[in-house]
Amino acid sequence: MSKVIIVGAGASGVMASILLKRKGHEVLVFERNEKPMKKIYATGNGRCNFTNRNIEFSNYHGKNPKFVMSAIKSFGYDEVIDFFNDIGIKELELENGKIYPMSLQASSVVKQMTLEAEKLGVKFKYNSYIKMLDFKNKPKAILYNNEEFEGDYIIVATGGKAMTKSGSDGNGYLLLEKIGHSIISTHPGIVQLKLENNEFKKINGTKIPGYIYLMNKNKKTMEQFSDILFTDYGISGPGILQISGEAIRKLKANKDVYISVDLLPYLKEDELYSYLKSNFEKNSYKKLSQALVGTINDKVISSLIEYLNLEDIVVGNLSKEIIFEISKTIKDLRLKVTGYKSEKDGQVTCGGISTKEIDPRTMKSKIQDKLYIIGEIMDIDGDCGGYNLHWAWASANACAKDIV
Ligand SMILES: Cc1cc2nc3c(=O)[nH]c(=O)nc-3n(C[C@H](O)[C@H](O)[C@H](O)COP(=O)(O)OP(=O)(O)OC[C@H]3O[C@@H](n4cnc5c(N)ncnc54)[C@H](O)[C@@H]3O)c2cc1C
Repeated sequence: MSKVIIVGAGASGVMASILLKRKGHEVLVFERNEKPMKKIYATGNGRCNFTNRNIEFSNYHGKNPKFVMSAIKSFGYDEVIDFFNDIGIKELELENGKIYPMSLQASSVVKQMTLEAEKLGVKFKYNSYIKMLDFKNKPKAILYNNEEFEGDYIIVATGGKAMTKSGSDGNGYLLLEKIGHSIISTHPGIVQLKLENNEFKKINGTKIPGYIYLMNKNKKTMEQFSDILFTDYGISGPGILQISGEAIRKLKANKDVYISVDLLPYLKEDELYSYLKSNFEKNSYKKLSQALVGTINDKVISSLIEYLNLEDIVVGNLSKEIIFEISKTIKDLRLKVTGYKSEKDGQVTCGGISTKEIDPRTMKSKIQDKLYIIGEIMDIDGDCGGYNLHWAWASANACAKDIV
């Protein structure tokens, strides 16, 4: 049996430790924090969306998204559910195939995984920051205080740069860069977007349900229905987070990026036009800001009027063309995306260790013998919906299967 050192007790590190220990290996996990899996408490809004019923390689991104295929085929939805059921977590499916523990508590995942690892005899060393790896002779992990630990294999599971206060601050990239790995430049994913000329800034905090489309000129390339949150920096909400990765990739490629918001999903554009026309005829004495109350969220109205560059005049004086423009804009509010919040605000890091340098079937480094790399640290990011944690589990499984 082998002695395996794991750097990082996050999602992928703890999963690997359990699977390796079940095979009888000796497993020593170093974690810089005082406890394991700190980030997990924040996942899925504290409920931990730990997988998705529909796991496809198309939910993953990076320079080579097909890299995930073999690992998610061997450890797909059924295998993940079996694993969690076996350690006492019953699954609950909510919207869009998202799977949570039935307790709806992310802490359940941490508790049951840690109990399982401890029962098996995995050794955890907390408050233990690994500052260097050395493969000159036997694989060696070197602690912040220069203490050295030897193993037969080292697994690096230090995560990306998202939510730095959880311990994953990107130092893992440097650990691996020093031994010859290369890094695809990183940016946040599943993150809030910044907007140009944001007339909606003043309604910071207002949330409305609606459709969001990522646009390529007049073509809708992605569609989401969710709450939309207007903020002082731009726009957020589950649908925005979902399309953010693609929007940022386009920004990075120096493309103009526009989103379209449908502020009133319940009426088609022609229905809305007819309704506004008759409403404005019946209430012709009202100002525009008054006449729209009851049709769209009243907090949005003054920003919409500003966006349309209209005077707040009585609606009896509005031409058919203007009424058409108003209904068109309510259904297709075009907003230019100019940026995104920082890596610490994102839920995942896009980019990371180049997947060209890792074997997709085993997660073994092609650069350094006896080294494995798992989880978010590599140039793979998943959609919002349980795909990132699924990648942590699946990549850990691929590596654990390989170590003999
Ligand atoms: C707010 C938020 C919500 C999210 N919600 C979801 C969700 O609902 N569903 C989903 O699928 N994904 C979600 N994610 C993403 C998911 O949590 C991550 O993709 C996943 O945790 C990555 O696992 P990992 O093992 O690669 O890294 P991490 O879980 O980040 O773990 C890395 C560990 O390594 C430790 N470490 C780092 N460097 C060192 C070092 N040098 N020495 C020792 N230890 C070190 C860190 O302290 C950390 O504990 C969310 C992320 C965030 C930030």
